[in-house]
Amino acid sequence: MNRMAERSHAQSNAWFARALAVTPGGVHSPVRAFKAVGGAPVVMASAQGAHLRDADGNEYIDFCMSWGPLILGHADARVVAAVTRAAALGTSFGACSMPEVELAERVARMNPWAQRVRFVSSGTEAVMSALRLARGFTGRDLVIKFAGCYHGHADAFLVKAGSGLATFGTSSSAGVPEAVSALTIVLPLGDFAALGAAEREFGGRLAAVVIEPIPANDGLLLQAPEFLRALRQMTARTGALLIFDEVISGFRVAAGGAAAHYGIEPDLVTYGKIIGGGLPVGAFAGRADIMAHLAPEGRVYQAGTLSGNPVAMAAGIATLDALAAADGRGRDFYEILETQTGSFLKDLIYVLSKVGGQLVRVGSIYWPYFGEGEPPVRPEQISAGHVAFFRRLFPAALERGVYLPPSAHEVWFLSAAHTEKILAEAVNRLEDALAAVG
Ligand SMILES: *Cc1c(COP(=O)(O)O)cnc(C)c1O
Repeated sequence: MNRMAERSHAQSNAWFARALAVTPGGVHSPVRAFKAVGGAPVVMASAQGAHLRDADGNEYIDFCMSWGPLILGHADARVVAAVTRAAALGTSFGACSMPEVELAERVARMNPWAQRVRFVSSGTEAVMSALRLARGFTGRDLVIKFAGCYHGHADAFLVKAGSGLATFGTSSSAGVPEAVSALTIVLPLGDFAALGAAEREFGGRLAAVVIEPIPANDGLLLQAPEFLRALRQMTARTGALLIFDEVISGFRVAAGGAAAHYGIEPDLVTYGKIIGGGLPVGAFAGRADIMAHLAPEGRVYQAGTLSGNPVAMAAGIATLDALAAADGRGRDFYEILETQTGSFLKDLIYVLSKVGGQLVRVGSIYWPYFGEGEPPVRPEQISAGHVAFFRRLFPAALERGVYLPPSAHEVWFLSAAHTEKILAEAVNRLEDALAAVG
């Protein structure tokens, strides 16, 4: 069946032309601009469950899922009801409120290392604030991050590796002073020797080591658990804080995120995406003695007019409650999702293999890889062939009603709304798209 002829993008294109006249690049976050895949972005009008609907009324099965927050699917009835109820009670108090207590209690219950929780409004704010806290707590300035991990767009993290094995970074964005990026050391993922060298050189000056324990922002670069354990040991030896950036992995790979998945406890942890159930929420959390250094208890300043916003908290509470619920047979949310997506997983691996692709995956985070050889563990291992193939696949999938994240470097997300039936349809469309470009 040829679905391609039916799809018009006239309305979408008209909206995007208007956007271009009032917004840089027409977008409010760069990767939405389709620069990595070509063509004009599709302008959305509504979404429900596993589906997006664009300005022309075209429907898509969505695997981008707003880049991770929507583990229950778009416009989940429980989340919408909670948000509606909360909004009617007042959209912001600027004072202590009940929902922020209720969400913080849930976060702490699901993540025992999150002894104290502070809410912010984005993942960027969460990681930025956690780093300031680590610096205030340790009285040190340097931070180690890893190439291929994304921690939001605060100055300290828009840094790429300098030359040499263990060296100070240089900024990866105009507008970030070298004086700031020089405090960030960028190491290769999974490289024990580089880690050792950095410890010898900078150990006593390190405030923190920050990592996405499941790096999911430049492909899905799954690390050996031993590497994460080495970070835990190295930070314990040097007195630096281990910060797990779980903005994607938190509540996604398990109720306790990657920390629970690997059985490794960080000193501080950052959340975003799922914690807000599709509304703007971030959080940083961790050991009570460290968190006590935050204002008003301590001397590390951090604040937010809309932090703990009651409508956003309501979305988070409804989402976390759904994740914590078991079904009649005692299976938890994550087991149910695994079962529901099991045949899609098998079928997708099969259709990918027909064009030489493979699937990298943890839980409901998927990353099809079209390069040769072992799946990459570092960004520079991602092959040009993979990127070129994805660039051709993306429009073919889009025109068949499958909305993929618009970059070869982005992971795909599944949600509880991706039923077996929808996923069976998705695999057919993807098979068709792969055949057309393969
Ligand atoms: C998305 C993301 C961020 C930034 O969160 P925003 O809400 O986009 O500011 C930080 N860290 C990780 C691991 C992320 O995936």
